[in-house]
Amino acid sequence: MAKTFVGRCSCGAARYRLTSPPMFVHACHCTECQRLSGSAFAVNAMIEADRVETLAGEPEPAPVTGTSGRLQAIFRCPRCKVALWSHYPGAGAKVCFVRVGTLEEPARLPPDIHIFTATKLPWLTLPETIPAVEEYYAAKDYWPAASLSRRAALRDG
Ligand SMILES: [Zn+2]
Ligand SMILES: [Zn+2]
Repeated sequence: MAKTFVGRCSCGAARYRLTSPPMFVHACHCTECQRLSGSAFAVNAMIEADRVETLAGEPEPAPVTGTSGRLQAIFRCPRCKVALWSHYPGAGAKVCFVRVGTLEEPARLPPDIHIFTATKLPWLTLPETIPAVEEYYAAKDYWPAASLSRRAALRDG
C-alpha cells in the first residue's frame, strides 16, 4: 500500500497530499533558500507534479527571480500565502519541490542530501551519516535507482 503524505498551509485553506513517497529530499543551504525560508536552510521533497493532489484550496503561483537570476514559481495558499511547493527552472512544471515543513508529519521525510553547504550557517553542525556537497551534485551519484527511473520517465513523457 502506498504511503500517503498530507500537508497544508498555516490557515488550512490549502491542503494537499503526496500520492507516493518523493524521489529525493534536499536540505538546501544556499543563500536564496535562506532568504526565501527566513531560516538556515530549506527542506524540499522532489516529486512528480502529478503525484501532488490538491485536497482543498488552489495554491497560486508567485514568480520569484532569485539571486541566480532564474525564475522560480512558488505555489502559495491564496489566503495566508504560506509557500507549499515550488517549480524550479531546471526541472520545470513536471516536478514539485514540496516544502517538507508543511507536511503533517515532516519527520517522515528527512533529507537524503545536504546541498550548497558552502554557505551553510556556521553554527549548524550536519550529521556525518547524510551526504553533503558544497554546491550541487549529479543525481546518478546519489539517487536510488528507482528514483532515477522515475525521473527518466518524466523526461520521456
Ligand atoms: Zn492558508
Ligand atoms: Zn537552495
